[in-house]
Amino acid sequence: MKRFYADLHIHIGSAQGRAVKITASRQLTVYKILYEDAPLKGLDIVGIVDVGSPLVSAEIEALLSEGLLREVKGGGFMAANGVLLVAGCEIETCEGIHIIIYLPDLSSINRLQQYLRSRVTNMQLSTQAARCTTLDLINLNVLLNGIICPAHVFTPHKGIYGYWTRRLSDVLGKQAGQIKALELGLSADTIMADCIAETRRFTFLSNSDAHSSVNIAREFNLLRMADANFEELRLCLDKSSGRNVVANYGMDPLLGKYHRTYCRRCRRITSEPAPVYACPVCEATDIVMGVFDRVVEIRDQEHPLHPLGRPPYYYRVPLKDLPGVGPRTLERLHKAFPSEIHILEQAPIERIASVGGAALAGLIAAMRNGRLSIQTGGGGIYGKVLKGGCDY
Ligand SMILES: [Zn+2]
Ligand SMILES: [Zn+2]
Repeated sequence: MKRFYADLHIHIGSAQGRAVKITASRQLTVYKILYEDAPLKGLDIVGIVDVGSPLVSAEIEALLSEGLLREVKGGGFMAANGVLLVAGCEIETCEGIHIIIYLPDLSSINRLQQYLRSRVTNMQLSTQAARCTTLDLINLNVLLNGIICPAHVFTPHKGIYGYWTRRLSDVLGKQAGQIKALELGLSADTIMADCIAETRRFTFLSNSDAHSSVNIAREFNLLRMADANFEELRLCLDKSSGRNVVANYGMDPLLGKYHRTYCRRCRRITSEPAPVYACPVCEATDIVMGVFDRVVEIRDQEHPLHPLGRPPYYYRVPLKDLPGVGPRTLERLHKAFPSEIHILEQAPIERIASVGGAALAGLIAAMRNGRLSIQTGGGGIYGKVLKGGCDY
């Protein structure tokens, strides 16, 4: 078995010279993600979730014909530098939630586009609201032999638990069994998710949902598989035949921009015991519900009950978000080390100190051992790492 670092939720900014995701950086192309961003970050596998757009599939076909990508036995597309592209499509269902379907090859991508053509208004753009239900997508995924994964499940913004339902079994019945993996989202972690009993059978993914290069791999997963291809990924998410997710590396949920409830009137992130439904200061109910508040609202038990084999969840802060790391330090670090994941996970602390300074080395050492001190996020404002401190 081998180990692979994977970020399976990345958005394309433009393809074939045209915009794909309005909110994503135009520089973010399939080529750039595979050949520049993935090696810089240290990713072996990238999931690009906009292949519902014919612009993106045309771009993949162009890279295939140029020899910069090849179709892999077992599914997926391999770049010449050894990075595996897993094609996926994030779709907004009529319940208002985001679901990703990962697909093995060009023919299943074409069939997905066929399905979407009569159900979305503008095919070129990503994450389009589609006139179909979550159950429709579960059935479609079976027909296409894909892998289905609800995205950022706890966020009040389009997350299946955050926005729609307390229990998947309530709304999806037996069909919930078709779902093997859930994406935790930036504001949640394994501790929060395992307070809900029914999540026990799911594999958790921690992905970046990046709309720009700098955010790629702000969350990632370490996968154990025999090889890099689509069928291996399926086995991995099924926890089958010795394949599994070895570890999740996620941002500390406190950093997430929707972690706690936020009062729009006072512009204040609450710190009172969750769940907070109205502002404790002005009593307004014009609030943005926090992910933590929502989890407390719907959880079965106060403390998590992890199933056997639940991988560890390591709290990570992207290098650029660590206090004192400016563009110059980043450049020096990139020159001295093979990738950002290498710096965060493997590089000897003394070497980091000699390149980036003792303060940075101290923060990375503290991060590897536990959690940094963080000012909590909410209402669309990210949390912040506090200078100098760590909790452990
Ligand atoms: Zn989404
Ligand atoms: Zn997304």
